Amino acid sequence: MRYAETVVDLVGGTPLVKLNKVTEGLACTVLAKVEYLNPGGSVKDRIATRMIEAAEAEGSLKPGGTIVEPTSGNTGVGLALVAQQRGYRCVFVCPDKVSVDKRNVLKAYGAEVVVCPTAVPPEDPQSYYSVSDRLVREIEGAWKPDQYSNVHGPRSHYETTGPEIWADTEGKITHFVTGVGTGGTITGTGRYLKEQGPVRVIGADPEGSVYSGGTGRPYLVEGVGEDFWPTAYDPSVPDEIIAVSDAESFLMTRRMAREEGLLVGGSCGMAVVAALRAAKDLGPDDVVVVLLPDSGRGYLGKIFNDDWMASYGFLDAEEGGTVGDVLR
Ligand code: PMP
Repeated sequence: MRYAETVVDLVGGTPLVKLNKVTEGLACTVLAKVEYLNPGGSVKDRIATRMIEAAEAEGSLKPGGTIVEPTSGNTGVGLALVAQQRGYRCVFVCPDKVSVDKRNVLKAYGAEVVVCPTAVPPEDPQSYYSVSDRLVREIEGAWKPDQYSNVHGPRSHYETTGPEIWADTEGKITHFVTGVGTGGTITGTGRYLKEQGPVRVIGADPEGSVYSGGTGRPYLVEGVGEDFWPTAYDPSVPDEIIAVSDAESFLMTRRMAREEGLLVGGSCGMAVVAALRAAKDLGPDDVVVVLLPDSGRGYLGKIFNDDWMASYGFLDAEEGGTVGDVLR
């Protein structure tokens, strides 16, 4: 019989699929790594598994302990999956811009969710960083993975995401494009790929975020961009950072579902916009791999809701038939 021993054993090993429609007119090959096919529905299953295993080994997470983490949802799902299997309690702290759908998913996995305002600086006692620190102090046996500084985040990508991409492209990858949130994906995957061959590593960042020279918020794409520099991010890994607007990100996210059959999240649309920009002048031997972190199911009330999109004026370009133009 062929089966996984537990759901945790299904993490990783995600496939690459060629993009065919949104890439029209490009000479190179653009492949998407579809991370929503992880059991928890996102790339974050990878770091969750690795961070918990390391904490158990180091003794910072003990039997019956509580995992407390500020997370925009995806890391929480990954942590909840592993925690469930091993009898840990989970308390997640997230900013209020995170969709209700995403919060409900965390609760469905049995986690507790604390919601904090987005529009306050990180040092404010109400910020989701401050609240999670306070909970760690107050709850006995609490352990905070801290995906922003945990070395096992980037390490999980160095050990799994990078090798999978290198093997699946048979070493033919020339460009790797991914969104930057904690920076774990680009740091670990990018470092591994660059050690194998001359791969150009490109980060995608929401306009306004620090990675592309902004001061922080506000932008609406979830899970990417920052208002501080996390230590999980090694700025020496990316060769280039491309800033993408909310409108471009969301319109491309909708095109991915309609034209490529990939119902993905807003940070995926953002990464694809950056990938297409990077691919513009490449030749037929170039192979661009763009990582798609999560599924569109958590954004049905936002990106895939015409009223929500229209309320920000994001549909103007789509209705005007200029969707393709946002890329230029
Ligand atoms: N997209 C989404 C939806 C995410 O949740 C995250 C993780 N914060 C990312 C992209 C970015 O990944 P990383 O934290 O590894 O930079």
